[in-house]
Amino acid sequence: MSISKIGVIGAGLMGNGIAHAAITSGFDVILIDTFPDALPKALATMTKNMDRQVAKGSLTAEAKDAALARLTTSQDYHALAPVDLVIEAVPEQLSIKDAIYKELGPVLGRDAIIASNTSSISITKLAALSGRADKFVGLHFFNPVPMMKLLEITRGLATSEPTYQTALELAGKLNKTAITANDAPGFIVNRILCMLLNEAIVALHEGVGTVKSIDTGMKLGANHPMGPLELADFVGLETLLSIMHVFHAELGDKYRPSPLLVKYVDAGWYGRKTGRGFYDYSTTPPKPAV
Ligand code: NAD
Repeated sequence: MSISKIGVIGAGLMGNGIAHAAITSGFDVILIDTFPDALPKALATMTKNMDRQVAKGSLTAEAKDAALARLTTSQDYHALAPVDLVIEAVPEQLSIKDAIYKELGPVLGRDAIIASNTSSISITKLAALSGRADKFVGLHFFNPVPMMKLLEITRGLATSEPTYQTALELAGKLNKTAITANDAPGFIVNRILCMLLNEAIVALHEGVGTVKSIDTGMKLGANHPMGPLELADFVGLETLLSIMHVFHAELGDKYRPSPLLVKYVDAGWYGRKTGRGFYDYSTTPPKPAV
């Protein structure tokens, strides 16, 4: 099946990046968010990020205008009736995703595909909730979506071959490199990465090193472009904690979330998006907060 119109649900960190990548690749996109402030905020973020691309020379001003003209926004799921594919990027809670799939069922065309950008929930489970398990697939993008080259594709037990082939084709059109993961918690990348981020927080909590020494250690000692605490702040500490809870339940004790991570999330210190996590973002460059 060839995709031309894409619906993106959730205009947050990932949804606005997915919409950005899709409109700059020539797709028509309808971006949905039910929170009143989210859509103008996403549009402002996309415009700012495209302006940055224009300044760097990786996008022309004409291509930016054409891309933004391909975007429409709405708070109403009914706007998704004409799309070939919906990519859901709402918070990592099964109940929220389930409620959305139930609303989508009667709205979408019979052949439309639903994809979830979930980081940690089983694609087979989400597919079953969607009521169209053969036309359901995991499309796991990485943040920031317009920059990151990888797309991790996961087939649920019932995902059909044509749906999988459509997902592979889409990855190519979005200029991403696709890898295929089996439907196991965290797929490939997050299973390994979240363990590392959580372990860095455990090391901080146990006083093995400071924020600066842990991040400098992993940058210079393991050649990582970002330190694990900086990266945890970037991902969002509440997102990391939700993922660790799923891993802990499904993969066992070695994935137990750090108590310090739980405390930070309780405090509302989610990282970069709230201005405070392991770093304080009120200064440029950000300073270690502890
Ligand atoms: P986010 O909180 O930044 O954005 C979620 C958006 O969904 C918000 O704008 C919110 O208003 C909206 N929303 C909430 N309920 C809704 C509803 N019922 N209908 C429509 N919109 C609704 O979250 P995020 O970081 O973009 O994560 C979204 C998904 O992507 C999650 O499943 C997450 O696991 C996954 N993911 C996140 C990352 C990351 O680095 N943050 C990476 C890959 C995948």
